[in-house]
Amino acid sequence: MSSKGSLFVVSAPSGAGKTTLCEKLLKTLPNIVNSISMTTRPLRSGEKNKNDYFFVSETEFKKKIKNNGLLEYAKVFGNYYGTPKRFVEQNLAKGNDVLLNIDVQGAMQIRRKFRRNSRFIFILPPSMNDLKKRLLLRKTDTKLQIKKRLDMAKKELAYLNSYDYKIVNDDLKKAFGQLLSIVVAARCETEKRKVNLK
Ligand code: ADP
Ligand code: 5GP
Repeated sequence: MSSKGSLFVVSAPSGAGKTTLCEKLLKTLPNIVNSISMTTRPLRSGEKNKNDYFFVSETEFKKKIKNNGLLEYAKVFGNYYGTPKRFVEQNLAKGNDVLLNIDVQGAMQIRRKFRRNSRFIFILPPSMNDLKKRLLLRKTDTKLQIKKRLDMAKKELAYLNSYDYKIVNDDLKKAFGQLLSIVVAARCETEKRKVNLK
């Protein structure tokens, strides 16, 4: 993949606050775009097709895999999720950074393919109890779904050491400051590398 921009891969247990933090980042910094994933999971109330996800059938998703249209994909909570390849490649080639808000399985696939040009960030809740409270407050999941998400969170934490950076999202302002400085520092490194290559 020829690229001038970088990939920022953000993973977190569901409810840790990655959507909140990523949305803030996209509003704050120029030249960074969000990759909208494709998924087979049903639309949640408040979500819009092509805005939050491209909501597709399993047949459509499998066709996309077959046509090599996904940069990575994984099955999470029984549904498929994947990153459309063309959007990411086009933006990186233009010099934009691309934010991927994906699970640990997808992050590990990206790590194998694009290690040099990507940064891996894991967002943690202050505790499992806080995570449960946030999921309950968010009111988008049933009790059973929340239980599944909490069980999954424990499994995801096993991948923590494969990430470059860990951010504990306790105080939102502080966590956002950390995320922002990771992206800004990575941009400085990329610029330095370009100068050294000249
Ligand atoms: P994720 O995308 O990781 O599933 P969200 O961004 O949807 O998580 O956040 C889950 C819930 O927690 C939301 O209701 C959000 O407003 C809230 N939240 C996010 N960050 C914090 C924080 N630092 N303190 C308290 N609540 C938070
Ligand atoms: P949710 O259903 O709560 O929006 O997302 C569930 C999980 O799927 C989250 O961990 C989220 O990061 C992950 N996810 C969203 N999009 C993608 C994607 O394109 N690829 C992968 N591998 N995971 C994704």
